[in-house]
Amino acid sequence: MAQDPDCIFCKIVAGELPSLVVAEDERTVAFLDVNPATPGHTIVVPRDHSADLHAIGAEDLAACAAMGQRVAGLLVDRLDAAGVNLLNNVGAAAWQTVFHFHLHVVPRYADDPLTLPWIPAPGDRDEIGRTHARLTA
Ligand code: AMP
Ligand code: ZN
Repeated sequence: MAQDPDCIFCKIVAGELPSLVVAEDERTVAFLDVNPATPGHTIVVPRDHSADLHAIGAEDLAACAAMGQRVAGLLVDRLDAAGVNLLNNVGAAAWQTVFHFHLHVVPRYADDPLTLPWIPAPGDRDEIGRTHARLTA
């Protein structure tokens, strides 16, 4: 099993650090976040260490997605969540602080305090076109 001795999520997977596990399977573990955005905020990790979305293998990624779906169902069933946000941060510029791939599964409630992290506004159509050209060249 691929492990990084300095990684806190590897230590959680190995049972060397405490965590509150809500579900697990052969490839993944899901445990409660210690700084929950809302009650029930869960982190899904692959058992094998991968730093981020770029590094993780397709099978572990698929297993994490399936576990994210299972946890989302659990949050709705058991906590009466009205909705769920799934989030994956890739790189420090994108708020990643723990460099072991993880999905945030954040249950949402009608009166919870979370807001969108950006203010939606119409984009410049030329700029969007130039971006599309760069992505598809
Ligand atoms: P990110 O910023 O996407 O890398 O998210 C890392 C998440 O891991 C944060 O939401 C932290 O609150 C959470 N976290 C860090 N250490 C622990 C821990 N020991 N147990 C549970 N969650 C943790
Ligand atoms: Zn790790």
